[in-house]
Amino acid sequence: MEKIGIIIETNKGEVKKANWGALTAAQGDNQEIHALVLDGNAEKYKDQLQEYGAHKVVAIQGASDYNPDTWSSAIVDTLKAMDIKVCLGLTTAMGKELIPRIAAQLDAALLMDCLSININEGTAKKSNFSGKAIATYKLHGENKFFALRPNSVSPVKNPVTAKLGNHQVQVEETAKVVIKEIKAGTSDRVDLTEAEIIISGGRAMESKENFKVLENCAKVLGAAVGASRAAVDSGYAPHEMQVGQTGKVVSPNLYIACGISGAIQHFAGMKTSKVIVAVNKDPGAPIFKKCDYGLVGDLFEVVPHLTELFEKELSS
Ligand code: FAD
Repeated sequence: MEKIGIIIETNKGEVKKANWGALTAAQGDNQEIHALVLDGNAEKYKDQLQEYGAHKVVAIQGASDYNPDTWSSAIVDTLKAMDIKVCLGLTTAMGKELIPRIAAQLDAALLMDCLSININEGTAKKSNFSGKAIATYKLHGENKFFALRPNSVSPVKNPVTAKLGNHQVQVEETAKVVIKEIKAGTSDRVDLTEAEIIISGGRAMESKENFKVLENCAKVLGAAVGASRAAVDSGYAPHEMQVGQTGKVVSPNLYIACGISGAIQHFAGMKTSKVIVAVNKDPGAPIFKKCDYGLVGDLFEVVPHLTELFEKELSS
């Protein structure tokens, strides 16, 4: 039986939802799935993790506070101790810091930002040329590492009975990176790359203050707010909100683009969204050729109206 390790990301004592997709992607014909929990709370998360097919929930202990150097070493130590050669993680901010470090230490074949994984064949699909092509890659070598784009695989429950385990790591405190301070973001909303619903604004927003229209809608939907590069370059939104080739790559279940023309560079960052809705006052805007649902109209009329409808619908 092939052992598969999954790096479980948590936030404020909760397993991040994007992990369910990673657990689903790890399911194959003859695999034993080891969920590796870095905050030590394996017992607390066991029930949820076994619902999605984790056969073993392992608490990694002794890794102290978050530091990409020490945490990646802790995971390497655990993978070696448990003889796990194939591992999955997420292409989140944390995954981007940890996974390449782990792969480098293990000299593993690494594929970041996978859209889907075939664990039996050791292959994965990945977007290329700003989303114009999807290629299938096969990883070779003794150790293999796949990082999955959050939300790209729909979670499917596969209940099993998990065993609990723990691994006490011996990590030398020789980190090259020193974390001096972690500042919480101003919004308590979910990170763009992990959000299940995103509503984004483009140049048409016209000001920072006007983003309030999208914020109001996002609040009702439990969504994150994104922006096009034109909106960011105009100073209407911070760069951390930018979606696209030079911004964040997102894959929500629902992406609502408001006053965004649909440039290829924007599309590169949200193309894999499950449902795309566009609101644009120009019926000839390119985004209407690329969306699932299009609304021709002024976003400052359409979005408040939609917010009201969502509010009514969701509260009934
Ligand atoms: P515009 O293209 O100006 O579109 C505005 C749209 O709003 C128009 O379609 C208009 O009809 C509509 N509109 C106007 N008023 C209203 C209203 N009241 N109600 C409804 N609709 C209205 N772009 C990104 O987004 N992300 C990236 O990461 C990115 N990376 C890039 C990298 C490179 C190397 C390059 C060259 C470009 C990149 N761009 C990126 C820029 C990209 O090419 C576009 O210029 C940008 O996406 C346009 O943003 P926009 O759609 O908001 O603005």
